[in-house]
Amino acid sequence: MSYGDSSIPRRRFDSLVIGAGGGGLRAALQLAQAEANVAVVSKVFPTRSHTVAAQGGMNAALANVLPDNWHWHMYDTVKGSDYLGDQDAIEYMCRAASHLVVELDHIGVPFSRLDNGKIYQRPFGGQSQNFGGEQAARTCAAADRTGHAILHSLYQQNIRAKTHFFDEFFAIDLIKDEEGYVLGALVLEIETGEPILIEAKTTLLATGGVGQLFRTNTNARINTGDGLAMALRAGIPAQDMEFFQFHPTGIAGKGMLITEGARGEGGYLLNNDGERFMERYAPNAKDLASRDVVSRAIYLEVREGRGCGPQGGYVHLKLDHLGTEVIKKRLPGIRDTIMTFLGIDPVESLIPVYPTTHYTMGGIPTNRFGQVVVPLQQSAEEPIPGLYAVGECACVSVHGANRLGGNSLLDIVVFGRAAGNHIIDFLKENRHHRAMNQEGVALALERLARWEKRGDGESVDELRQALQSAMEEYCGVFRQEDVLQQGVDKVLEIERRLADVTLKDQSKLFNTARIEALELENLVDIGVATVVSALARKESRGAHSRTDYPERDDEHWMKHTLFYKEGRKLDYKPVRTKPISVDSFPPKKRVY
Ligand SMILES: Cc1cc2nc3c(=O)[nH]c(=O)nc-3n(C[C@H](O)[C@H](O)[C@H](O)COP(=O)(O)OP(=O)(O)OC[C@H]3O[C@@H](n4cnc5c(N)ncnc54)[C@H](O)[C@@H]3O)c2cc1C
Repeated sequence: MSYGDSSIPRRRFDSLVIGAGGGGLRAALQLAQAEANVAVVSKVFPTRSHTVAAQGGMNAALANVLPDNWHWHMYDTVKGSDYLGDQDAIEYMCRAASHLVVELDHIGVPFSRLDNGKIYQRPFGGQSQNFGGEQAARTCAAADRTGHAILHSLYQQNIRAKTHFFDEFFAIDLIKDEEGYVLGALVLEIETGEPILIEAKTTLLATGGVGQLFRTNTNARINTGDGLAMALRAGIPAQDMEFFQFHPTGIAGKGMLITEGARGEGGYLLNNDGERFMERYAPNAKDLASRDVVSRAIYLEVREGRGCGPQGGYVHLKLDHLGTEVIKKRLPGIRDTIMTFLGIDPVESLIPVYPTTHYTMGGIPTNRFGQVVVPLQQSAEEPIPGLYAVGECACVSVHGANRLGGNSLLDIVVFGRAAGNHIIDFLKENRHHRAMNQEGVALALERLARWEKRGDGESVDELRQALQSAMEEYCGVFRQEDVLQQGVDKVLEIERRLADVTLKDQSKLFNTARIEALELENLVDIGVATVVSALARKESRGAHSRTDYPERDDEHWMKHTLFYKEGRKLDYKPVRTKPISVDSFPPKKRVY
């Protein structure tokens, strides 16, 4: 096949959205309803995006079960972020939350109900009433299939609004012009292997997280950080990549998620002595302390010999005391997962659990309108014209160093909508497509051509596994200088080995094999960003726990990390500590 530029088919839209998870679909809906001509590209059928797997729910201070207001939600989020979250964005998100839950209810999300007909809310980790007081119940849930309900409703609304879908198309690279405007992207039709150029006045990245960087994770196979790597290659830095969330309750040895909602419903953790050990680590919040705190506690219990099982390699989650009724009504999907993967029934058995990689706090730097921003001088930022990012691939940053459960489904709808609104204004002022940059197209095509080559070199799968194991071993729950340095060396060696990877000569598998190779390149770029950023941050904050620097150091490190691919350069920018309308929450010691 010839990749001569003139042979590539082209399509033109006002707006291109890359990613059909909740973030991309919420933005596309806003655009389509405003009668913009919008294309959504997704490498899997939209309703297979990872949002579909979200279980526990979405936070909003509706106060349906216990007293609540958005200001308390904001406080919990700032504290949960270990003061690395940007407070303007956090205020914006928490204020918008109730309105957006009601909106989802109206477009068809079947939220679970209380007896009085109001939306059901469950307690989740890190939630409090009255700025750090009693446990709150803020997570709106559709049983334990909340993401499924949200994603399907958003997809159906998009179909109704006439959003144009490119299902099973893989985005390769952004195209920029010399003035820095983003002009669209080169994408690949997976079925035929043909590249297509999609030109657009605005491009929004909503490609989700990078859980596949680690061996044990809760993420879908497709969560390989493609959008983030596309941004890195376009010269945009990756922000706060040292912060990956390890979820405390993955099924031990397998990694699948057991929602925090299981503890929200009253489940708790036990060690081998039958002790409810979280009482020692977080006397008030206990099992509903923030995720970083609970993950570290499990890790320490196991390391100090109080783990369960033949090798003492995990702890137990106890649900059986909740009763069959509650488990069947509130946690039916979890029960299914446990029965399928462990062959036991949580109604009568303890569940073996261990921390598993879950959520990417870092990502493409944006402001609260979803615009991708790059720092100029200290504290000034400049948007990249025509480029937006929302959802897990973005870092706005509402989650800072540690995300609270239930805040990500909220993040994707809040900022999906905000970006949609901002794009509508941008389109009013930028009415014409700019001239295509042929050199940019040629460069993106070169990346594709590299995977035409076949041979007997190292396989994509081998190298991917090597990367995942290295990340888990050298950049896991606890970190320290010498181990991280070895991690950097290992990952850089993997980066070098990438040059020798070839696809096997199995033409039937060729197209999917080529996609996996492109994904591996993306994972490697992000792996480098992660270990380099983690080695540099000499403090413990949120999910980044350094045994050699166990304390948080606000004097030197209350700042966001920025990693540039070119020259593997690091830079930093200040946290936006000023909210929009209320007083800021100054850093305090974080206890639960
Ligand atoms: C098991 C699990 C349970 C969770 N539970 C909760 C919860 O209860 N509450 C909560 O708040 N959060 C939860 N989260 C987190 C939350 O679900 C995610 O952060 C959020 O849904 C991400 O949405 P997104 O729109 O950013 O991306 P995703 O839903 O991951 O979608 C990414 C999209 O990008 C597309 N894409 C990626 N790369 C390319 C490419 N190269 N070309 C074309 N398309 C591409 C994919 O096809 C997909 O459509 C959970 C996460 C997991 C993994």
